[in-house]
Amino acid sequence: MRYRHLFGPVPSRRLGVSLGIDLVPLKTCTLNCIYCECGETNNCTVERKEYVPLEEVYEELNDYLSKKPALDYITFSGSGEPTLHSGIGDVVKFLKQKSPAYRLCLLTNSTLLNDDRVREQIKPIDLIVPSLDTATEECFQSLNRPCGGLRCEDIIEGLVALRREYAGEIHLEIFVAPGLNDTPEELAALKAAIERIKPDRIQLGTLDRPGTEEWLEPADYNTMQGMAACLGNAEIIGEFRPGPKIPSFDDSHSRQIYETLKRRPCTVADLKALLNLRPAEIQKYINHLLGQGKIEIDHRERGAFLKVKKNHGRQT
Ligand code: SF4
Repeated sequence: MRYRHLFGPVPSRRLGVSLGIDLVPLKTCTLNCIYCECGETNNCTVERKEYVPLEEVYEELNDYLSKKPALDYITFSGSGEPTLHSGIGDVVKFLKQKSPAYRLCLLTNSTLLNDDRVREQIKPIDLIVPSLDTATEECFQSLNRPCGGLRCEDIIEGLVALRREYAGEIHLEIFVAPGLNDTPEELAALKAAIERIKPDRIQLGTLDRPGTEEWLEPADYNTMQGMAACLGNAEIIGEFRPGPKIPSFDDSHSRQIYETLKRRPCTVADLKALLNLRPAEIQKYINHLLGQGKIEIDHRERGAFLKVKKNHGRQT
């Protein structure tokens, strides 16, 4: 069966072996972040609806889970914001009834958490990883580029409400964009917001792959460390280090990408055009190859190119 709404499972640096469920078409989101690995948001919306038919999602899950795969998580993520799908709660219920042994995770940009119905639908999920990159409206507008009149303070209120009502783990994720959200004023505002939200963990990440905006640079290690210390108990998310062999990880895709890059450096957009893979899936394979130290990112005037590291067989 060719899956349209499931991807992976692939090794994730935070979640182990994670099967992805993608509930919205590329690229449907409430934000258009400058660092987005899926490219520009062409459908920027706050409208919740059934973006993909639930029957198709159930059919794919029934087929995939009948093989009883070894998974650490089933994760709602992918080509945009998963809580935009009005039926996310039904998929959660379906999985909890059908396969209660699997842990569920949601990666969300937090923008819809101030909607009571959204919080109610996601309550049974075991781990929620919401993002909050800034606590000031000015930075929110330039870094996350929201649509539909979303306001930063409403998002923080939604996160506070989630913490109040939700018994599972919340790992708050912050993307560090040098020059935008790493100033003393920004840090003070973020710290105050975190004190209200009370997440179980705080995770800091920065650019480790080409983002939407080519001018964006990754934060250096000192900046990351300084922010982690200032925010208190924040972890810096490192590259994924491959662990034991994962039987369900599709090595052939990883090899295909590596072989392509051996011939010539490519951007993520080039790879999307060349290979018949979903963007979120391509990104996971890229992360895996980056984690293995086989490929690297080369920032050039024309954009961020992926290329094979010299000592890994590139023809020169
Ligand atoms: S990074 Fe996430 S929240 Fe931001 S535009 Fe991309 S999919 Fe949307």
